[in-house]
Amino acid sequence: MHAKIYRGAEEIGGNCIALQTAQTKILVDFGLPLDFDDRPKDEQKKIWAEAEAWAQDAQAVFITHSHPDHYGLIPALPKGTPVFMSEGTRILLASNPFNGIKTDDYTIVTFACRQPFTFRDITVTAYAVDHSAYGACAFCFQAEGKSVLYTGDIRLHGRKGVLYKLLPKHVDCLFLEGTNVREEEGTNPGQNEPTKTGNKRCVRETALTEKFAALFTRESVPTKGTASAKNAASGKAAESLHLVWCSGQNIDRIVTLYKACLLSGRQLVVDPYTAVVLDEVAKLSPKIPNVLGFDNVKVYYPQRLTTCLNKKCGSRYTTYLQPRVNKVTYKDINANPGAYVMVVRESTLDYLQRLSVPSMRFTISTWRGYWDDKSSKTARFRQWIEQHCNITEDIHTSGHADVNGLRRIVEHVQPKGIVPIHTENATLFSQKIFSQITDNSTPVFVLYNNATFEI
Ligand SMILES: [Zn+2]
Repeated sequence: MHAKIYRGAEEIGGNCIALQTAQTKILVDFGLPLDFDDRPKDEQKKIWAEAEAWAQDAQAVFITHSHPDHYGLIPALPKGTPVFMSEGTRILLASNPFNGIKTDDYTIVTFACRQPFTFRDITVTAYAVDHSAYGACAFCFQAEGKSVLYTGDIRLHGRKGVLYKLLPKHVDCLFLEGTNVREEEGTNPGQNEPTKTGNKRCVRETALTEKFAALFTRESVPTKGTASAKNAASGKAAESLHLVWCSGQNIDRIVTLYKACLLSGRQLVVDPYTAVVLDEVAKLSPKIPNVLGFDNVKVYYPQRLTTCLNKKCGSRYTTYLQPRVNKVTYKDINANPGAYVMVVRESTLDYLQRLSVPSMRFTISTWRGYWDDKSSKTARFRQWIEQHCNITEDIHTSGHADVNGLRRIVEHVQPKGIVPIHTENATLFSQKIFSQITDNSTPVFVLYNNATFEI
């Protein structure tokens, strides 16, 4: 069996691996580069053309999870190519009207985890893993007497971190993601904590619940601007409305916020897009907070986003929810801002602009890099937030394993060889991951994009 990393060997994101046997070629992940939108038009065209060439002779594609840097090139597939993904991933792709992928147009095949199935001469087993995407999985491929395990994106510090212990052992080759392998470990503010060894570890997702709960119950701070100045002058203090900037698809984070709301006596308010995502996910995992089944989860309807969703999807995202749902209005929020935590993003800015509350606090609960995005949409949102809110310290943790987590994966799997992927620092793998594994001689094969590798 041969492997080739088309993209992802030298960068974070845009993963695409080809596995080739005597009879079969499959692609594993088919992602857009993370900075695709920022690239010049001619480069974007080149990326699509390349993807079409990679997929031309592939008999199937296997997608690990619902992040665009792993699935975004699906539209470049020849018609009819089977696309394998977990049911959770399918649900998230189908409920995102902005990703340009109408799942009905593709031949999507879902599977159960840890139940091997055969595709031509390859035996495939999917393993659910912990990541910031619901339904994420790793794949083990067995063919021609060899086995390959590809982690996709993985972490051990989320709610399902323990799942890594179910990964298969003694594979011939482990394709291991290394987003957090870098010279200076754990330098992200609000995301890492020191350990006894001096390394830094990613904060556990469950620990964020207490951080948020403490924040949501804190004293109010006067908001910048005229309204707050008036309030401060009159001595009136209202509890702050809390705004949290996070992905509506990061189900783990929504659960964290929901739990923090319960602890602090607030209600979680989400936009209609997030509401539909939660409702769909809850069909598979009924314990996930959702608008239709949980009294403490409400929906707000930003005019622009609602119109846009109506245009794109008909009534699915809006009127379908409205009759049954706990809708929150401007009036409700203005009257009692301290009762709510709102999940917000750029596309809900028009709603925030119409609110009239004396104090707003804003928390970044996503990768910091998105806040520095220079696109006009983000810049406009950021400018407004900076003018009208008190911005708190970030409360976030990475979707990717820290070095300690990667080490534990390697110790569990005990592969015969490791190939770094989804990393900018493949050459640091040996030093970082094995520095504390005594008696380890597992070779690390540093590949370059487009290099062929015999397994
Ligand atoms: Zn991911």
